[in-house]
Amino acid sequence: MTRRAGRRVPHELNEVPILIVGGRYAGLASALFLAHQEVPCVLVDRHPGVFILGRARGINPRTMEIYRPLGLGPPVKDAVRPFEEEGGVARCATLADEWQWLLDEDFPRALPELSAGEFCLADQSTVEPILAEAARARGSL
Ligand SMILES: Cc1cc2nc3c(=O)[nH]c(=O)nc-3n(C[C@H](O)[C@H](O)[C@H](O)COP(=O)(O)OP(=O)(O)OC[C@H]3O[C@@H](n4cnc5c(N)ncnc54)[C@H](O)[C@@H]3O)c2cc1C
Repeated sequence: MTRRAGRRVPHELNEVPILIVGGRYAGLASALFLAHQEVPCVLVDRHPGVFILGRARGINPRTMEIYRPLGLGPPVKDAVRPFEEEGGVARCATLADEWQWLLDEDFPRALPELSAGEFCLADQSTVEPILAEAARARGSL
């Protein structure tokens, strides 16, 4: 352990070649893909845990295609199964205003001419813990 800015930093963290700042979709995916390539990294965020307020509501087919060889297709799909029928994304100024549907419930989930993956209606706060766990399981700190 060494000390920096008044905090104790584990010695092993000083030896890691890549520091990722920001532990949401981009940072977590970076940690996961680096760990998958056996490149050590440390991820830090100003929040102590995975943030509970998600913004993203869906994962596009290409992203699901990229997740699949890392074994993330089944856990992501399992996590959202209870909400599978609650398709659709709407926006509105307030909940009492008229909703503008960006994607309705029947939108096509697969675009086989573009990707082998399928659109998955998983929200960010559901998926990020899965990415974090997968990155940790592969050795990310
Ligand atoms: C309303 C809305 C709807 C969206 N819907 C979708 C969707 O359906 N599908 C989709 O794919 N995308 C969607 N997006 C986009 C998606 O949310 C973003 O692309 C994604 O969150 C970007 O991830 P990020 O990791 O780059 O950044 P962020 O999610 O902004 O994460 C940045 C992280 O870095 C941390 N951080 C920043 N500065 C520091 C610092 N100095 N020290 C330590 N930590 C720091 C923050 O605490 C935060 O946790 C949507 C976005 C919005 C706003």
